[in-house]
Amino acid sequence: MKEQPTTGVYSCADESLSVERVAVATLPTEWGEFRIAGYRSLVSDEEFVALFKGEMRRDTPTLVRIHSQCLTGDVFGSTKCDCGAQLHQTMQMIEREGRGAIVYQQQEGRGIGLMAKLQAYELQDQGRDTVQANEELGFKADHRGFQLPAEILAALKLKAVRLLSNNPDKVAALEAAGIKVTERVPCEVEPNAESERYLNTKKEKLGHLFSKR
Ligand SMILES: [Zn+2]
Repeated sequence: MKEQPTTGVYSCADESLSVERVAVATLPTEWGEFRIAGYRSLVSDEEFVALFKGEMRRDTPTLVRIHSQCLTGDVFGSTKCDCGAQLHQTMQMIEREGRGAIVYQQQEGRGIGLMAKLQAYELQDQGRDTVQANEELGFKADHRGFQLPAEILAALKLKAVRLLSNNPDKVAALEAAGIKVTERVPCEVEPNAESERYLNTKKEKLGHLFSKR
């Protein structure tokens, strides 16, 4: 990973951030006890949730996942994708390490929105893969921006992270946004019959890395 200058976009002045913390509370879960914080953007109507555990230290590369909301996977336990399993695996890893954070990005369907995602699912039922379906609906394969998640990390006082992701583009985007990624930690879930095609598309068309595939 390339070195970032020590005086990045955010330096150490939190007042330069365009997000503010609304509340922070304790959240006991099936996988351990976490802190949950709500943030809102000062420049748009976007809201974010961060789940974290342990002391957040600027000088400690910390286990982090930027997770994109997936209502179908995270809440309904959909097996069409690996989102829910990745989220819960991350929570278990953070619990084991005793330190880490998840920035939960409310960008359903890689940023296209819930209704459009369901339209894409309808197209997938007719044989398209996830990238073809999004493109047919007029969306790019990935609509997410990483500037605001990077600001949430900065607001959590994290400047260096061990990023839980299979997506090398995410590493580059986060570094471009001023967060030092000291390591990419694979976040792999065993595929099932339904998610197999989706994960293959992620690998072939979106450049995701899977060690077991
Ligand atoms: Zn999903």
